[in-house]
Amino acid sequence: MTDNLPSLRETLDAHGLLAKKSFGQHFLLDLNVTRKIVRFAGPFEGRAVIEVGPGPGGLTRALMESDAGKVVLVEKDPRFIPLLSELDDGSGRLTIVEADALNVREADLTEGPTHLVSNLPYNVGTPLLIKWLTGPWTPCALTLMFQKEVAERVVARPGEEAYGRLAVISQAVAEAKLVMHLPAAAFTPPPKVASAVVHLVPKTDRPDRDLLKSLERVTAAAFGQRRKMLRSSLKQLGGADLCEAAGISPEDRAEVIDLAGFLRLARVAAGLPSETVPRDTGPVLARRKRT
Ligand code: SAM
Repeated sequence: MTDNLPSLRETLDAHGLLAKKSFGQHFLLDLNVTRKIVRFAGPFEGRAVIEVGPGPGGLTRALMESDAGKVVLVEKDPRFIPLLSELDDGSGRLTIVEADALNVREADLTEGPTHLVSNLPYNVGTPLLIKWLTGPWTPCALTLMFQKEVAERVVARPGEEAYGRLAVISQAVAEAKLVMHLPAAAFTPPPKVASAVVHLVPKTDRPDRDLLKSLERVTAAAFGQRRKMLRSSLKQLGGADLCEAAGISPEDRAEVIDLAGFLRLARVAAGLPSETVPRDTGPVLARRKRT
């Protein structure tokens, strides 16, 4: 248990550590907050947890109190390694890896179903999320703190301002829910923006690699020119013909197309079997027949 440890602030002072801006360091020093995040993430029932960017270890302390069978820390800033070693309770549950999380192979760190729980550095939060959602290694669940704007972009629905590539890709592969808001004042030092925690559970029927690649291409083109109609933003990928074959109105804009619509576009664009294109595509196809 962590009750006999000095407070996080005392630990930072004792090690003479100040936050480094370049590493996106904004610390959560209130254990009530970190325990709440871990409650959203769990129960772990003995499964492993990877925490990226433990810093002084506020979230790590809550994870060590939890039912995680193994806690693997990946921290880039070597200054924190000695301080994190103090959280080792001798049970063999804690592993500390000094590395850049963008470059580690998570499969080498744990075996079996593994959760990811992190207060992510703002500058690499989105690339890390994309790596975990679309890369070769898939966690069983992700509970991640982002700056509020990024969290909103992950969970946004069609028609919302924050709806874009990140929402479509995230929701294609996972169920995503915003579970907690935190004001900037909850962090030391406080960042310029508020934060929020997103909980994601990867779907069992995730798109395969080819479909995902095509979805990335289609959403990049569609949202790259989000104010344009799809027939022109998707011109390079087939324009109006592509839209019609996918049962989508070529006059629509990216922001109104739901996940199922983007998946159909991606499937047609990649020349994949179109079993998800509905047989009755309604007035759109009736209006604009392919020649
Ligand atoms: N988890 C701690 C907390 O909640 O107080 C610290 C969170 S702080 C927002 C981000 C942490 O990620 C810092 O400890 C920073 O050094 C670390 N970090 C930054 N970039 C990293 C990277 N590419 N790989 C691993 N850790 C990184």
